[in-house]
Amino acid sequence: MRAALQSEIGQDKLEVVEDMEAVGFGPGKVKIRIKATGLCHSDLSAMSGVLPQPAPFIPGHEGSGDVVDVGDGVTTHKTGDRVLVCWLPPCGHCPACKRGQGHLCLESFSNVATPNFRRAGSDIFGFAGTGTFAEEMVVPAACAVPIPDDLPYDIAALIGCGVTTGLGAAINTAKVQAGSSVAVIGCGGVGISVIQGAKVQGAAQVVAVDPVASRREAALRFGATEAVAPDAFGDAKNRITAGEGFDYVFEVVGKSATTQTAYEMTRRGGSVVVVGAGALDDNYSINMFSLFFDEKKILPSMYGGGDVLRSYERTIALWRAGRVDLASLITHRVRLGEINDALDQMRTGVALRTCIEL
Ligand SMILES: [Zn+2]
Ligand SMILES: [Zn+2]
Repeated sequence: MRAALQSEIGQDKLEVVEDMEAVGFGPGKVKIRIKATGLCHSDLSAMSGVLPQPAPFIPGHEGSGDVVDVGDGVTTHKTGDRVLVCWLPPCGHCPACKRGQGHLCLESFSNVATPNFRRAGSDIFGFAGTGTFAEEMVVPAACAVPIPDDLPYDIAALIGCGVTTGLGAAINTAKVQAGSSVAVIGCGGVGISVIQGAKVQGAAQVVAVDPVASRREAALRFGATEAVAPDAFGDAKNRITAGEGFDYVFEVVGKSATTQTAYEMTRRGGSVVVVGAGALDDNYSINMFSLFFDEKKILPSMYGGGDVLRSYERTIALWRAGRVDLASLITHRVRLGEINDALDQMRTGVALRTCIEL
């Protein structure tokens, strides 16, 4: 089958190959025919080495498709089920899951170090234990979350990562209060989802901050009340909050420098919400006086900061009710053979999300 392969970390292009094989099928597993997959910024970060990932590997962790085979002992799925891919499924019985923090479950993390594919006699890994830039994929049954018939594959794919991450940061992690002031640094697919989450929560002001003009325009369409380039952020803070700072500032870039900006733009007692996935060697430091005296809350938010299955259901309910616009997040579409176009669209910032149809 066809798949997009990265041979070594650091390469900026993927090779579309025809002779890939999905391996590991057996008890407890399902095989999925992938229909749609989104390109998430984390895929680029894994390709460049910012996020740890063994190679050679197939990127992609935001996907949807049909179950085409069901392993022994799997009672939750049947052939033909429509599913979205959950790259970090909660096991349901570890201490984190029992606390209702399924997004912190590490049970499935061993998938990351297990090859999901084979080609010409060599093991190939799948990003985050998945690898959705492939026509077929074998995953533990818990990674294949059934979706309702009215949810299109392309939107379902986005719910598997970017949309859940962004909405969850605003709703689960920050618990944005009605009438509050919010700023969002970084307005790609995840940042736009943060904006929509803040709007759902009833924020009064939502300021989008991004260097790319087309993303600022998009942010306004999705509910930002104002959109500014980074160099105008300080002025916006002074004008909107009378200099005090925002109640919530979301960092959706994954860098210490933008986290510092978020910290400075947050009011005393407000919340800095770190949504971006950053590098192991990019450290953030803060002086102990400010940490204590300004009482700003630093809230990391991983994969939506809550039970992912509940978050999926909530997202689908909001989408059905027309309270969030997920279809418009897909600004570009390509076939698998044009995958490198999708990488360019993400790198230059012209795409909120590119959907790759398989
Ligand atoms: Zn667990
Ligand atoms: Zn992602």
